[in-house]
Amino acid sequence: MYIPHETLDLIRNRVVIQDVIKRYVPSLKKTGRNYTGLCPFHKEKTPSFSVSPDKQMFYCFGCHLGGNIFSFISKIERLEFPESVKFVADIVGVEIKGLEKGDATLLESIHRLNGRVMEMYNRYIKSPAGKKGLAYISARGITPESVDRFKIGYAPDSWDFLVREALKTKSEIDLAESIGLIKKGKKRENSHYDLFRNRIMFPIFDIHSAVIAFGGRALGDDPRKYLNSPESEAFKKRNVLYGLHRAKESIRELNRAIVVEGYLDVIGCHQAGIENVVAPLGTAITAEQIRMLGHFCTDIIFLYDADSAGLQAGIRSLEISDETNIQVRIGMLPEGDPFDFITSRGPKELMIVVDRALKPVDFKIERIMENHGKAGRVATLIQLFGVIRDLPMETERSVYLKKTSTLLGLDENSIRTDFKSFLSKGKSHVIENEHSTENDQADSITRSYRDLIGLICRYPELIEKAVIDYNINEIPDSISRNVIRKLSELYFSDQNFSTDKIFDFFQTGPEMDFLNQVLHSEHSVANPGAAYTEIYINMKVREIDDKIYRYASKIKSASNGNFHEYISEIEVLRREKEKLCQYIYNKFV
Ligand SMILES: [Zn+2]
Repeated sequence: MYIPHETLDLIRNRVVIQDVIKRYVPSLKKTGRNYTGLCPFHKEKTPSFSVSPDKQMFYCFGCHLGGNIFSFISKIERLEFPESVKFVADIVGVEIKGLEKGDATLLESIHRLNGRVMEMYNRYIKSPAGKKGLAYISARGITPESVDRFKIGYAPDSWDFLVREALKTKSEIDLAESIGLIKKGKKRENSHYDLFRNRIMFPIFDIHSAVIAFGGRALGDDPRKYLNSPESEAFKKRNVLYGLHRAKESIRELNRAIVVEGYLDVIGCHQAGIENVVAPLGTAITAEQIRMLGHFCTDIIFLYDADSAGLQAGIRSLEISDETNIQVRIGMLPEGDPFDFITSRGPKELMIVVDRALKPVDFKIERIMENHGKAGRVATLIQLFGVIRDLPMETERSVYLKKTSTLLGLDENSIRTDFKSFLSKGKSHVIENEHSTENDQADSITRSYRDLIGLICRYPELIEKAVIDYNINEIPDSISRNVIRKLSELYFSDQNFSTDKIFDFFQTGPEMDFLNQVLHSEHSVANPGAAYTEIYINMKVREIDDKIYRYASKIKSASNGNFHEYISEIEVLRREKEKLCQYIYNKFV
């Protein structure tokens, strides 16, 4: 759905961002140029949520959510971007043409149809005809109360149960097909068959308890043990957590969410009275899902099964949570999955595992120490240093260096000395690893581009220079590339350019996280032009170093006298580099 940017501007100009936000954040008060209050997206006692009328943006220093007025509404009202625009438009009395009720009506019809189908499956499992389904469910330890609470059902072993019983009109059939409840038959025209057959049906609810999809567990010998509804208008897998509609109150109250792997684990935990439990939908957790939980609590714990798949999932979820800036913890069960564990040992034992969940750094250290015997002491030490280096606080680093000395039985002072030289060399002298050198280089280029964007966001007029100095398509870091491209498009197409508009395009994802980081760091630069030049020249110098290195290795490998041209090239490059360095020297010393 397209909303012309003139309309967006009109809304933006009329809206008083702090007034709209104050409806959701009653504690919002003016402090200096900005407004601060208690964040509506995470639980807190001292205000870290800030709204800047100058920048037309909000930001929370606690949970790192931020954006413009449309992002705020879309997050707090859980709306897609166009709907959040419509929402704000209604507040300020701007009429939006072309954004009619169509989409909302479509969603409602999907929810209604799914709701009806859910009731049919649920009635069926409780009927004599469905006793096979109920037998399976009770054998797994699920109580009749849970069957009702989670509306578990049974799709009979029939090709046309829904087609016959549920879908009366052509439009219902079309709708059912569009959300994957039925499929078109190949043999006869206009014939359809049910997608879910002989399966235990778990309805998937959105946060407002509307049924948006189904997950079906095969009872027969279908090789696809679990089958989910395909993605549709109503169902985007990455944005949904199983059980959240029933778990959200408990999560908010306890300020803690427990993430398990399967539907049955969620149901088993709720059944045992642990209600702050959710699961992703048969895939690894996504950044969107972590952010969603971050709206309800600050303590997110992943509880994984005691096997290598569980371990892999744990490591993967750490990487994803890193992208979101939301701190998570990892709990590993000593045996089985959460449901088995709760059944055999009871909820109290499970809570002990949850309480002992490890912070990412401890989880990583534990994994490294497990391989200690195989890897050897030096390699282990270097891996541990790598983990410790990534810690943001000096005091924390110190604590973990001490821990390292205990773990490896080495003298603490020499470990501290080794760590210092590890830091100054960027990598250890003990292990030369070319691959990591390349990575370091790539990292520093990425950092430079991101510094550049930070500067441009704060001083947008610099974009005119940047599009001449840089070829956007050649920027290696995809986040930087996407953001710079959008910034320049905005800047050159929009006479009323302001930086907050960039959030219209990046409502979620790594770009949004990155923009929040750069836009809300409050340091201003005395001379933006000079800062720009410094970044530019540093990148140039690095580029030249790169070229020199490439020519030098060509000289090394050249067998005959063919290297003279390389030598003169290198000479030219050296002179160019000298000039650039001289320039920086004069400017800054
Ligand atoms: Zn917050």
